[in-house]
Amino acid sequence: MAETIVVTGGAGFIGSNFLYFLKDVTDDRIVVLDNITYAGREDNIPRETEFIWCDISDAEHVDYIFKKIKPTKVFNFAAESHVDNSIKDVTPFITTNIIGTTNLLSSSVKVDVQKFHHVSTDEVYGSLDFDNSLFTEETPYDPRNPYSATKASAEHMVKTWNNTYGLPYLITSSSNNYGPKQHSEKLIPKIINNALSDKVTNMYGGGHQIRDWLHVYDHCKAIWTLDEQKVINSKFNVGGGCEVPNIEIAKKILNIMNKPCSLIGQSDERPGQDQRYGTDFSKLTAATGWTPSVNFEDGLKETIEWYIDKSSSQ
Ligand code: NAD
Repeated sequence: MAETIVVTGGAGFIGSNFLYFLKDVTDDRIVVLDNITYAGREDNIPRETEFIWCDISDAEHVDYIFKKIKPTKVFNFAAESHVDNSIKDVTPFITTNIIGTTNLLSSSVKVDVQKFHHVSTDEVYGSLDFDNSLFTEETPYDPRNPYSATKASAEHMVKTWNNTYGLPYLITSSSNNYGPKQHSEKLIPKIINNALSDKVTNMYGGGHQIRDWLHVYDHCKAIWTLDEQKVINSKFNVGGGCEVPNIEIAKKILNIMNKPCSLIGQSDERPGQDQRYGTDFSKLTAATGWTPSVNFEDGLKETIEWYIDKSSSQ
């Protein structure tokens, strides 16, 4: 049977990369729901893909659309996603990440959606020490900033809608993504764009924090591999196995761009800053065979080229 797949947040970074990924792997009907916030761009959506303007926090509108198009699967990428913004004002994060996700869940139950795939983050687990420990799917939730608290809440809602209403679900909690089409507020595009105009990038607390980097293509592949293999009602971590201190990322980017390290500055530590993320994705590998495929140095070079091309075409 042909599927009707709803992709929320398809105008954003990971959602739009997922749409391009889907073009190569399925002929299913794809419908994007997005309200094009400052972080979304309508031209990120492939031209031939159906797009419906929709704010997922509007329960009636979500219900109306779901009754009309009767999706069989939902991939929920829509979110407010920038920690700094959540520290300044949590309201849109509660509205979209918690209320919006809950609306999608309720409408999914009404039209008998066969799978609700919720895209989450490893930030729901909190922060690790600088040792060999890793987040597993059993690590207790311990969000430490307003963004990750709303993402943890959304995960609880998804699991609850499975337990209470029987909605089939999957949750993937991914580490930091990089690649084309990411908003310039995020670390890697910010360093690249600043370097292009010889501007200094100030690193929180000197940039000692460690993140695990995953190319967005590998993230999309992980989500689709789970779908192809019909894995259901579970949660998986998705990671790059590539922990790098933020300061090293900045140095690598400047080195590739032939720019001086004097373009790295320092600012005060972010309030509530998580020090280290590290992701154990062995459950996903054991279930599906998926492992990350993009080498970080290659992926970073390609990403830098993409931003250089973009800036020269503007
Ligand atoms: P993004 O900020 O680039 O894009 C978010 C998209 O959601 C935008 O198109 C925006 O317009 C849309 N949106 C926001 N509020 C909406 C609303 N109320 N109704 C409809 N659409 C709305 O985010 P991203 O980096 O692509 O992240 C996608 C998902 O992946 C998020 O759920 C995020 O928490 C998660 N995630 C991101 C990363 C990362 O490194 N970027 C890592 C792990 C998990």
